[in-house]
Formats: sequence, structure tokens, C-alpha cells
Amino acid sequence: MKKLLMLGECMVEMAAADGGLYRQGFAGDVYNTAVYLKRSLNTPAQVGLLTAVGDDAMSEAMLACFRAEGLDNRHCYQLPGAMPGLYLIEVDEAGERNFLYWRSQAAARQLVRCIEEDNGAAFSGTDLLLFSGISLAILSAEHRALLLERLKALRAQGATLVFDPNYRAKLWGKDEAAHWLAQAYGCADIALPGLEEHQLLWGQQSPEQAADFLTGLGVKELVIKQGPEQLFVNGQYLAVTPAEQVVDTTAAGDSFNGGYLAARLDGQSPLEAAKQGAALARRVIGYRGAIIDKNQWA
Ligand code: ADP
Repeated sequence: MKKLLMLGECMVEMAAADGGLYRQGFAGDVYNTAVYLKRSLNTPAQVGLLTAVGDDAMSEAMLACFRAEGLDNRHCYQLPGAMPGLYLIEVDEAGERNFLYWRSQAAARQLVRCIEEDNGAAFSGTDLLLFSGISLAILSAEHRALLLERLKALRAQGATLVFDPNYRAKLWGKDEAAHWLAQAYGCADIALPGLEEHQLLWGQQSPEQAADFLTGLGVKELVIKQGPEQLFVNGQYLAVTPAEQVVDTTAAGDSFNGGYLAARLDGQSPLEAAKQGAALARRVIGYRGAIIDKNQWA
């Protein structure tokens, strides 16, 4: 059975609900992708999170939530005394969503220390590993460099490395992000970015320009997302069918990645996989929050 690892941070989510209440959940880019990948795969595989959490009640609930999604928890390091990060989704008077974060002390920031103390044991036997720009942004520069060395070694052993830059201006400076994201692309076989981040960080205005940049960094397979407009899949444009109702675009890109990778692992071509990813993302944006409730999934 294939071992698929999603490396990064999962947070406690508090989403504004009616009557001044908040609905508590768990979310984070690589976790969202893990959930949708696991739910969409037809081929049996071990899908797991490579992350660090604390030993508090919220961390325990988070691990229980991973288990309930059928995710493998063997590589979730538990740090005594640490806690997970938290974010809150507020809806303002104009109906715009604002995100507020409490993540500076999050356990996931210590992930590389855990990996190193474990001599990289988590990577053993990994067939595919997904990581993101957020996975890197929350680390120190020293830990980013250590992690990328580990990922290069993993790739050299034959694992497929998948990267989504998921650029968040709040987490790091533009020049710093441009530097590290390019380094990360240099470790990736498959890249799943959005065009907008390439426009912002490297001034590439078209999917063709972004694709040339990625190919130059050694990426072999790429999908460039352009929100509701179109997809660019290994040199070919694919039209996106607009959603009938956009309720909440949270996790559109993450669910696309999950659907795409599931189809690729099930043996579909990149173009067919992009269609599956887009269909899933279209569905996810019809629901509130990152994760569609399990009882509404089937
Ligand atoms: P993110 O900002 O979360 O990375 P994007 O806006 O790039 O997400 O969208 C990711 C994918 O979600 C797109 O490639 C597309 O397939 C789908 N998508 C986004 N917005 C819409 C929409 N309005 N209608 C249908 N599909 C959409």
C-alpha cells in the first residue's frame, strides 16, 4: 500500500456562526488536502499527516478528528506542554470574511526539530509527500533549509514531491517568500500553484510564463490555478465550470489538490485529474468552512 504524507500545520478553527456563536473545527491547507485526498481515492493507500501537536485536550481532539477521517497519525509528533495554533473567521458588516490568527507559539513550528530528533524516520517508505509554502513560512530559516535537504534526499530515493506555494503575505515578506518558494519548487516533481502568487512574487503575468519558470526549476508536472477562470495543465488550458452558488471559497485550492492527486494516484492523466480536482473544488465552495461534513459527503 502506498504511503502518502502531507507535511504541515493543522489549526483549531473557530468559524462565526449565527447568534454570535462560533463553530469549532480543525483546518489547515495540507490537512484539508489530506481529507479530500483520502475521501476521493479509489486505490487503497495510507494517507497521513506529518505534523506536530501538543498534549492538551484540543490536540487530542485534533488527533481524534484525523483518525475519524481515516488518516494515519503515526507521524503526528506530540510535544509536552505545547498547543496547536488557532484561527478565527469573522464576517464583517459587508459580508467579507476576515481571518485572525493565534499561531506564533503553535506546536507545528517545532516540526523540523521533531523530524531531526527522529533522524527523519517519518519519511521512511514514503511514496508521495505534499508540502506547501505555509509549511515553510512557519519555520525558522535554519529549519527551512534542513527540511529542504531532507526532502531532496527523499526525492532522490524515488518519492514524488508535490508543492503548492500557497503564498500568505501575512506570514512572511515578499522577497523572503520568493526566495524560499523557488527553493521549494527546486525539490518538487509536481507543482500546484495559483497564477496570482506568481504575478505577485515573480511578475509572471501568464500561465505560460509561470510554467517556463517552473520547468526551469525542474518541475515535471504542473497545474496553474486561476480561480473561477481557468486551469493550465502541462501546457493546456482547461475551462472551469463556474459554481452556481459560491458560499465560501475556503479550501478551494486545497480540495482541488486533493481531488487532483487522488485521480493521479488512481491512474488518471493530468488533464482528467484536473477535471476531478475542479469538480471537487466547485463542490467545496458551495459549503461553509474548509471541510464538508462527513454526513453530507456521500
Ligand atoms: P485558492 O485561492 O484556495 O488556492 P483558487 O481561487 O485558485 O483557490 O481556486 C482553486 C480552484 O477552485 C480553481 O482552480 C477552480 O477549479 C475552483 N474554483 C474556484 N472558484 C471557483 C468558482 N467560482 N466556480 C467554480 N470553481 C471554482
